Amino acid sequence: MCYLLRAQEEVQKLSPQITWLHYRQIKEQFNKDKQKGFMNLDSDWEKILNSENKLITKIYKKLLEWDTETEHVKTCMTHWARDIGRPILYEEWEKLWGKNMKFNYASDLRENQFKMIYRWYITPKKLGHYKKDKRTKCWKCQEKEGNFFHMWWACAKTKKYWTEIHKESRKILKKDLPFRPELYLLGVTNTNLGKNEEKILNYLVTGARIVFARIWRSNQVPTTDQWLVKISDIKNMDKLTFLMKKQQGNPIKEVDWSNFEEYIRQRMLDSEEKK
Ligand SMILES: [Zn+2]
Repeated sequence: MCYLLRAQEEVQKLSPQITWLHYRQIKEQFNKDKQKGFMNLDSDWEKILNSENKLITKIYKKLLEWDTETEHVKTCMTHWARDIGRPILYEEWEKLWGKNMKFNYASDLRENQFKMIYRWYITPKKLGHYKKDKRTKCWKCQEKEGNFFHMWWACAKTKKYWTEIHKESRKILKKDLPFRPELYLLGVTNTNLGKNEEKILNYLVTGARIVFARIWRSNQVPTTDQWLVKISDIKNMDKLTFLMKKQQGNPIKEVDWSNFEEYIRQRMLDSEEKK
């Protein structure tokens, strides 16, 4: 018995409320089950896939059970479009999703990518609704209203942090990069970078968000050194994963970190000189 998953366009024609995100989730589960086989008669997937009739409705119900509510995804996408001043293209979401999946050995990277797409971080604006004093001011500057985009990008203090990350990332990659929120906040890299550079850039920006989120509620922003420590951690984990996969007989392409390593050496030399 061979099961095939319908193409996304086909699924969307039948049921327009299924988004790319849902489809990816179905596909992911489908591929997992395909490897294990669909032999277990009690499996929900077996039942769903065995009945052609109202297949999509059933999958959709299942997805709702998983608490992946369509409206929420749509709202997030609309809000991102409003914040960055253009809609994020379907291919761009697809690419983010693909990259995100490859983060699977590093749960904090994966978690952060999810939380950014879903705009999960609680903001002073949201919190203000529940508080007696109704204070919605930004935790960093204490001046402007602290909505999601202000907190993550527009705030003067936050902007200073990203300017620093931007400057150093360009030094590391030895490439010019656009200073755009979609690059730093989501990892949309429509730049002319090679595969390896793109991977490193993705680590650089995701690492920057992770250290920023760590002190989310404080009036501080992380230092460049704190960011670099995180990137070194990611580098070590990446190298370890490579070795592990190699040993398991499942080799993956090795990431070339030499630009980053050279940058760190230079940075240490510079600080020695300053002393
Ligand atoms: Zn602010």
